[in-house]
Amino acid sequence: MRHPFRVVIVTGVPGVGKTTVINELIKIANSTGVKLMVSNYGTYMLNTAIEEGLVRDRDEIRKLPLRKQLELQRITARKIIEDASKELGSEGYLIVDTHALVRTVAGYWPGLPRHVLDELKPDMIAVIEASPEEIASRQARDKSRKRSDIGGVEGVRRLMDNARSASIASAVFYASTVAIIENREGEPEIAARELFNLMLNL
Ligand code: ATP
Ligand code: AMP
Ligand code: MG
Repeated sequence: MRHPFRVVIVTGVPGVGKTTVINELIKIANSTGVKLMVSNYGTYMLNTAIEEGLVRDRDEIRKLPLRKQLELQRITARKIIEDASKELGSEGYLIVDTHALVRTVAGYWPGLPRHVLDELKPDMIAVIEASPEEIASRQARDKSRKRSDIGGVEGVRRLMDNARSASIASAVFYASTVAIIENREGEPEIAARELFNLMLNL
């Protein structure tokens, strides 16, 4: 049911601040001597998709034909665990920066279906949240990404509701805990501290 290391999956709608909170988590882990490895699911998918000449940036992945996304998703789950097993061995934490629900061109699509969970076997699924208004404004401010397809405040609200349910559904497969963590404006380090404290109890 579990890997020797702890697996914490971090989810949340695009622009809520998953990657930002995880960067704060790395600082906390470094200052306390906790061994932590971070894998960004989208980066693994992107590297394969670029090699195959399918996309130019990470926000194009959710626009690929679904069968292609499924193949990239499957390859990635295996590779993440392969890399983590090499780096972590039998201790520490693997943090996976990903999505419980992806808004694709063919509809909402689970980021953590059974075939992914069979590889990741998560101890915890964290859901990073903020108000839809705050998220939409973070998306608008972040010029490094193309998230306009998420659909503004209303699109974010609908995706958030469904993504929370998707996280809980995914937690059932491997009896993972679900932690809902608020990433308040200007305070990502507080969200990281909350996540860190919960992780220590796994
Ligand atoms: P994606 O799923 O698209 O990768 P993400 O959830 O990883 O998105 P980030 O890239 O971490 O989101 O953050 C999106 C933007 O919001 C960035 O510009 C980041 O600086 C900003 N941001 C993140 N957290 C906060 C916060 N607590 N307060 C203010 N701005 C924030
Ligand atoms: P991110 O940088 O976290 O937004 O990831 C970039 C893209 O990778 C997302 O928009 C999705 O298209 C894809 N992605 C990330 N995680 C998953 C997953 N678990 N399943 C399917 N696609 C994913
Ligand atoms: Mg990110």
